[in-house]
Amino acid sequence: MNPPEDAAVRPVDVLTVTAVRDVTPAVRRVTLTAAAEVVAAAGPTLSLLVPRVDDPAPRWPQVARDGRIVWPQGSHGVALRSYTARRQDPDAGELDIDFVLHGDGPAASWAAAAAPGAVLAVASAAPLGAAPAGWLLLAGDETAIPAISRILATAGPQTRGLALLEVAGPEEEQDLSGPPGVELRWLHRADAAPGSSLLADAVAALPRPDGEDLFAWVGAESATVRVVRADLRGRWGLRRHQHHAIGYWRQGRAMSPAG
Ligand SMILES: Cc1cc2nc3c(=O)[nH]c(=O)nc-3n(C[C@H](O)[C@H](O)[C@H](O)COP(=O)(O)OP(=O)(O)OC[C@H]3O[C@@H](n4cnc5c(N)ncnc54)[C@H](O)[C@@H]3O)c2cc1C
Repeated sequence: MNPPEDAAVRPVDVLTVTAVRDVTPAVRRVTLTAAAEVVAAAGPTLSLLVPRVDDPAPRWPQVARDGRIVWPQGSHGVALRSYTARRQDPDAGELDIDFVLHGDGPAASWAAAAAPGAVLAVASAAPLGAAPAGWLLLAGDETAIPAISRILATAGPQTRGLALLEVAGPEEEQDLSGPPGVELRWLHRADAAPGSSLLADAVAALPRPDGEDLFAWVGAESATVRVVRADLRGRWGLRRHQHHAIGYWRQGRAMSPAG
């Protein structure tokens, strides 16, 4: 039977793992290869299709004209998760994704077992949501470091601001480069669990910078982001166009109904 006019019109883009290395004890970098145009289009934010490690024969969905994912009927062995392309190099046909090995969930399990030759697919891509400003606040945990690294790398050289980066401890700090006027401040959870109040407390302790040439970008555990967003909208008085604050993961819950 032919699909209806608005149904699946294209297959997803499949990428193959070429290398895997641990950037820190909890972050695994997976390098994938694909045609230059696939790599160029695959980011910075990705809707990633991750095969379940216990399913030997994943069946990929297709993507409809309106961007909807059209799943095959029955079990398909694929989970849909959001990730960030930490690096896209279309000329080399290469893309890096940094996975937090948080120990649970289809994507973290896939990354823990990833080896050259394994495959992933990309259903769609989106921007990071950041906007240029004279003063930037960047706040996130390990899951947001890929996005924050890209925002820092493209920020103008005169940009000032602060990046608050919540990680487990000093062993999880990464080398990030950005404008000299943006301070990198690492927050160590130590014995606290991921999704602690550390990041929200750090934002709550910040005085509001002067002026309106401000932008705040926040990515972390969803409840933390809600608190930070309320603080930035309330105490800082940021308008909608001055911030982008979204939950990157949810404590105790899988991120996507499709997974
Ligand atoms: C736009 C966007 C970009 C993102 N980019 C990245 C990225 O580049 N790298 C990255 O690692 N993550 C990134 N994330 C976060 C990632 O999508 C989530 O962590 C996701 O839940 C992982 O899927 P999973 O299948 O491993 O676990 P799920 O099936 O979603 O969750 C299983 C369990 O693990 C817990 N869990 C999920 N994530 C974490 C965590 N980080 N720490 C502790 N517990 C956790 C959940 O609470 C749940 O109990 C991004 C999220 C968004 C929205």
